[in-house]
Amino acid sequence: MELRSHLDGAGSVAPRPLIDPFQRAITYLRVSVTDRCDFRCVYCMSEHMAFLPKADLLTLEELDRLCSAFVAKGVKKLRLTGGEPLVRRGVMTLVGSLSRHLASGGLEELTLTTNASQLAKYANELKGHGVERINVSLDTLDPAKFRAITRWGDLDQVMRGIDAAQTAGLRIKINTVALKGVNDDEFNDLIAWAHGRGMDLTLIEVMPLGEIGEGRIDQYLPLSMVRARIAERFTLQESGYSTGGPARYVTVKETGGRLGFITPMTHNFCESCNRVRITCTGTLYMCLGQEDAADLRSPLRASESDTALHAAIDSAISRKPKGHDFVIDRRRSRPALSRHMSVTGG
Ligand code: SAM
Ligand code: SF4
Repeated sequence: MELRSHLDGAGSVAPRPLIDPFQRAITYLRVSVTDRCDFRCVYCMSEHMAFLPKADLLTLEELDRLCSAFVAKGVKKLRLTGGEPLVRRGVMTLVGSLSRHLASGGLEELTLTTNASQLAKYANELKGHGVERINVSLDTLDPAKFRAITRWGDLDQVMRGIDAAQTAGLRIKINTVALKGVNDDEFNDLIAWAHGRGMDLTLIEVMPLGEIGEGRIDQYLPLSMVRARIAERFTLQESGYSTGGPARYVTVKETGGRLGFITPMTHNFCESCNRVRITCTGTLYMCLGQEDAADLRSPLRASESDTALHAAIDSAISRKPKGHDFVIDRRRSRPALSRHMSVTGG
């Protein structure tokens, strides 16, 4: 299927680059291609999620046009996420179509974040479309615990996906959400396992997004404590390494591998924020931790020309806030934001 329309956003007159009010250049776009998922991770979704009607979702053609408009405006890194991006029907058509921006040099990196359940099926195709590295979310190496955390997931299937991705030549970074009383006894094993297979590992603090039907305070584990515990077993050496994301990295001397920490709760990483996020319905969120958003679906659908779309994007970026201020409400344990991570993408 050919997705490109005759009015390709990346091909028209050079539009203005995206600079926000704090002089930050917006070069990184995360796109949630579906809110659906084949897992129900306890920190991400409730067991009985109400998903959006399919008619509300942007089509693959619209997603392509929207991403291309951002590429035309200077976005260099595009990450597909979700929900689970690999359960969106036809997602490989979108990846294949977007890969033209890699070929033209408009885009430096096309990547995705996945739970790996469908990776065995798609790893070769992803690599063939120019995807070089991906993030895989995995919180435990214990099959029973994996089932308990994801509610529906099968660790064997995920491991087969990781094997297939490595065989295809994709580089992998493992993302692990630190969950108090759930996987806090496993971080050293996860480090040894990931580094032993040549994969970086990043630990993430659980964020208060969306109603999930359980107390978040029960899950929250500050990474400062985690790091101190890991340092009893491994030698952690400061590292200036950066992927352009919010993770701070150290090198683990004993393994030679990299260990990242993403600490939205204990450390504010907003000053250098270069990213925005789009939901699968075309809503642009200028900050993961704020409610302000812009509807891009209307200008997208209003005209075949991208003029209105570009104007809507410019107007939204001019409102990008300085940062977020997540607070876990200790009295009521209510989420700081009502939307789930699966809506905005991780
Ligand atoms: N389904 C894909 C996956 O799991 O990799 C992509 C979407 S998922 C929403 C992206 C990332 O967000 C995952 O690494 C997941 O662990 C993380 N995540 C989800 N809810 C979170 C929360 N409340 N706090 C911190 N991380 C969260
Ligand atoms: Fe699905 Fe990813 Fe959320 Fe888990 S974290 S429920 S895999 S979207």
